[in-house]
Amino acid sequence: AQHFLHRAKTHADLGAFLDVNEEVTLRQARAADARLAADTAGPLEGVPIAHKDIFVTKDFTTTAGSKMLEGYRSPFDATVVSRLAAAGAVTLGKLNCDEFAMGSANENSAFGPVKNPWDTTRTPGGSSGGSAAAVAARLTPAATGTDTGGSIRQPASFCGVTGIKPTYGRASRYGMVAFASSLDQAGPLARSAEDCATLLSSMCGPDPDRDSTSLDVPAEDFTRQLNEPIDGLRIGVPAEFFGEGLNDDVRAAVDAALKQYEALGAQLVPISLPRTELSIPVYYIIAPAEASSNLSRFDGVKFGHRAKDFKDLTEMYEQTRAEGFGDEVKRRIMIGTYVLSHGYYDAYYLQAQKIRRMIADDFQQAFKVCDVIAGPVAPTVAWELGGHGNDPLADYLADIFTLPASLAGLPGMSLPVGFGAGHMPVGMQLIGNHLTEARMLNVAHRFQ
Ligand code: GLN
Repeated sequence: AQHFLHRAKTHADLGAFLDVNEEVTLRQARAADARLAADTAGPLEGVPIAHKDIFVTKDFTTTAGSKMLEGYRSPFDATVVSRLAAAGAVTLGKLNCDEFAMGSANENSAFGPVKNPWDTTRTPGGSSGGSAAAVAARLTPAATGTDTGGSIRQPASFCGVTGIKPTYGRASRYGMVAFASSLDQAGPLARSAEDCATLLSSMCGPDPDRDSTSLDVPAEDFTRQLNEPIDGLRIGVPAEFFGEGLNDDVRAAVDAALKQYEALGAQLVPISLPRTELSIPVYYIIAPAEASSNLSRFDGVKFGHRAKDFKDLTEMYEQTRAEGFGDEVKRRIMIGTYVLSHGYYDAYYLQAQKIRRMIADDFQQAFKVCDVIAGPVAPTVAWELGGHGNDPLADYLADIFTLPASLAGLPGMSLPVGFGAGHMPVGMQLIGNHLTEARMLNVAHRFQ
């Protein structure tokens, strides 16, 4: 823990950490030492870990990357945080992220962007940019992240680390600051599939009293299949993931990885996910709709920022929200409120829900002929910080390959498979059917 705290300090310029508290960390580390000595160690005893600042924590501040929650301290720990702590993990601190997890470049954080350790002029990806950068720079052996539309997979890809978003409902959302509740899911980022499997085993499991969408499936040992052979594995390769929008450097790295899989005994099966392109408008209707509802709680009354100057209650709400939220969050609240409003609900929100169902059905058709789906995580390698200027659409379009699995609630992961332009890391995405994480981690582990 001391080693990593020291590294976090000497590499503070990356902007990965938002809160550290040496005293708390070292106290937890000493408790872990005592359990190790007493032979009562948990599966992660003494393993340092850092949490995306979306998970609420008693011992550290929780900001969700927003001025709205600057300095906020939760009276309880998120379920994922307490499960990892119960397994023996030692918390190093909280990691920077896009405001309320809305973004693809970590540039929407109220506390400044995170730099990609491979090239500090570039983005680490988002929204779990702090998590991916901290693991890549070895400021922590592992980190938690959340993925609503790609926020674990895309930063993992951009920073050359491994990350997995499990099946929707595998990990409890209790204590995760909500963005889009039907999509939000927690998962680990670490150096390898093996490390991710170990972490995920402690993170998942039902939480019926606290998250009604948590699945009634017992926690699993996700490491159990890691070393199984993959001969005869059918890897579905969706044509729509390899179209015009994919940059050549990323295509080359992913193609080479697919060849490697053939050499390991897998069989490539061409498949089609015909509504891939529609996942962008569908996601950017559903996610803002849910966000506009979830973020209504930040009104200056119960917690977080409250404006100083106001005449009456309405003005207090207005001023608080005007001051506390950043531009992207405001944009999504407006889009979400619009698509849910009377007269537009049927035209936008309801249509989006119907297409969401069709996207999920397309995956089930594909899984009739393949065991796992593989493709790129993102169309490009990490872009320059500020590279998308003030164009939110450029960010949205870059989410095209991660959104489909999110909308279908399927598990997805990113594993580093090579390098593209500027010697930047390229991740390959694996998408599995519901609850097949152990197999996916096996497939990733065989490559690594
Ligand atoms: N980039 C997507 C968005 O901005 C996904 C974010 C996420 O998964 N939290 O909404």
